Amino acid sequence: QKVLLTGGTGFIASHVLDVLLDHGYTVVVTARSEEKGKRIIDAIPPDLRDRVSYVVVADIAQPGAFDQAVVSDPPFDFVIHTASPYQLQFNDPIADCLDPAIKGTTGILQSIHAFAPTVKRVVITSSSAAILDPPNHPKVYDESIWSSVTLDQATDPAHTYRASKKFAELSAWNFLTTTTPPPSFTLATINNTYTFGPLPRSLASLSSGTINTSNLRILDLVRGQHRAAIPPTAPVFTFVDVRDVALAHVRAMEVPEAGGKRFYVVLGGVLPSEEVVAGTVDDFPEGHWRFDNSRSRGVLGVEYRGLEESVVDTVRSILGMDVEG
Ligand code: NDP
Repeated sequence: QKVLLTGGTGFIASHVLDVLLDHGYTVVVTARSEEKGKRIIDAIPPDLRDRVSYVVVADIAQPGAFDQAVVSDPPFDFVIHTASPYQLQFNDPIADCLDPAIKGTTGILQSIHAFAPTVKRVVITSSSAAILDPPNHPKVYDESIWSSVTLDQATDPAHTYRASKKFAELSAWNFLTTTTPPPSFTLATINNTYTFGPLPRSLASLSSGTINTSNLRILDLVRGQHRAAIPPTAPVFTFVDVRDVALAHVRAMEVPEAGGKRFYVVLGGVLPSEEVVAGTVDDFPEGHWRFDNSRSRGVLGVEYRGLEESVVDTVRSILGMDVEG
């Protein structure tokens, strides 16, 4: 069976690709240029290369950007859409973040609906940012909760990223309910939290410009940026390993009951003790919000690696790179 995977150069997508290949799929990844597409293919072990190819989608915010990419022979069975800007600073919040996130999401669904009727399931990488609602935390976060960030707040750079994720996800669910005739595919979203793990093999070299935003935090530690003092952290700290996030995407594509559901993919530790909470909501300090990851464990079978394994493997992967800058 065949999968279209967007944002092939990305940190999360690189691990989704590994799981897809492991599960026997043929995969077409999207990349913003020929050069990036070639780099992805070159990083794949030679014995798996005959099952991967790339297609260039230069600007996902453009109308019809995916019209050609969704057409393939043999046709696609599934689409996993990870491409979206994950930065915390923007020159132009609309052009640099909100448009690619929101128009990219509605655009790919429109293209699938119009040109790829064989697609059965679409999985979109949303984020915990579409769930979390600071400072008005509920007692327990689960998939029933949505961030209350508004479109009016979205152009304030402090809110742009989380608004991009909320409104991209919301527009996807709205597409499903408002489109006529109804789309032939079902939808699942992965709302993963702050994600750590080994860097993509296709990363040419390591600099703060190319490492993804969440792993940058670990790169800073490795480089001794916090030698003098560890910066203050929130009382509740959530994280998840990228390999668990990747498996969640592929299971959300494969498992029939996953259709129509969001999945909060999250584990937690309480800093500064760095005690890893093994998937339970019971060990959090009194008075702080908790999370419920039971749907991802129950429906998708995610077992969750602990913080130590995740950080150790991330550091190993960073030390193995050709470090620049
Ligand atoms: P990366 O920055 O590694 O990957 C982002 C991917 O999106 C890259 O392939 C990038 O392409 C592509 N992309 C970004 N902007 C555009 C654009 N305007 N047009 C086309 N492609 C674009 O980050 P992650 O892998 O971490 O992020 C992947 C997804 O996961 C995003 O949707 C992000 O919001 C979500 N997420 C990430 C979390 C984390 O902690 N890492 C947590 C929760 C959700 P290029 O390489 O060419 O720039």
